[in-house]
Amino acid sequence: MKPAKFEYRAPRELEEALSILAEVGDEGKVLAGGQSLVPSMNFRLARPAVLVDINGIGGIDSVTSSSDHLVIGTLARHVRFERPVTDGPLGHLLALAARKVGHRPIRIRGTFGGSLAHADPAAEWCMIATLLDATMVASSVRGQREITASNFFKTVFSTALEPDELLTEARLPLLNPAAKIGFVEFSRRAGDFAIVAASSVLDVEGGRISTARIALGSVGGTPLRSPAAEAVLQGNVPSGELFAEAGEAAAGDVEPMGDIHGSPEYRRDLVRVLTRRSLQASTEH
Ligand SMILES: Cc1cc2nc3c(=O)[nH]c(=O)nc-3n(C[C@H](O)[C@H](O)[C@H](O)COP(=O)(O)OP(=O)(O)OC[C@H]3O[C@@H](n4cnc5c(N)ncnc54)[C@H](O)[C@@H]3O)c2cc1C
Repeated sequence: MKPAKFEYRAPRELEEALSILAEVGDEGKVLAGGQSLVPSMNFRLARPAVLVDINGIGGIDSVTSSSDHLVIGTLARHVRFERPVTDGPLGHLLALAARKVGHRPIRIRGTFGGSLAHADPAAEWCMIATLLDATMVASSVRGQREITASNFFKTVFSTALEPDELLTEARLPLLNPAAKIGFVEFSRRAGDFAIVAASSVLDVEGGRISTARIALGSVGGTPLRSPAAEAVLQGNVPSGELFAEAGEAAAGDVEPMGDIHGSPEYRRDLVRVLTRRSLQASTEH
């Protein structure tokens, strides 16, 4: 298939891109890595009248650390995260996730911001943003606004971004250097989207879990936290039994949808197992 006819614009400056987006409104689409947009245009699921290619804009692919955040420019490519971009558990967590994003050619072109803006509930970066309650920065000619992950992802392929807004960066909170991170997913073939993914961050103080975060991917319209599993962990001593209990709680927290890749019951069972494995893995490295 070939895409429907479109006008191609390639701004060299951020301000120019924002003016074009303001001018074309919902007739326009941003082109980042093109790894999701181009296939959907070829299938004519997306028919933007104007394509705004942001690849020529300098300075929006940086990855830098502030005192408390890792600041990821929207055009940072997936491949960049395969090796830790920062010391400590956050860099390690991102590296575990990056290696599961599609295949290498996809990781070489696809971008962090494109994945967030695309909002596939199975996408690794969307789950990590939910796990850490990342802040997304949306820019437009009207100015900038910050949107937390819990308000950013609306439903499948839908975010809080307005048609004239460009996602310019994501801010991920730095983790406690001793934080224990876990990331596991299940797919039928290497490189496929996850049928279910689970990730976790634990802070342990005095032998007890002081903070617990669990996020799940591919079990609903958006990635989800599991408050029930987090409550099971909070204040308790890490152990295999506790992690199994948290897995049960996570399974009870979700209402997965079924599709050709797995029934709701199958996905729920994967949530149970992968939550436990994510927690177990977190205590092993
Ligand atoms: C075979 C295959 C397997 C894949 N497997 C996985 C996988 O396992 N896990 C995974 O997470 N992804 C997977 N992907 C998708 C891939 O990660 C994409 O790179 C990602 O979803 C979108 O990023 P992109 O930069 O390519 O965005 P594009 O395709 O360019 O854009 C995607 C959407 O986001 C919008 N957009 C992009 N950037 C911005 C921005 N800065 N501001 C506002 N809107 C923006 C676009 O307008 C479009 O609607 C796979 C893709 C393919 C083709």
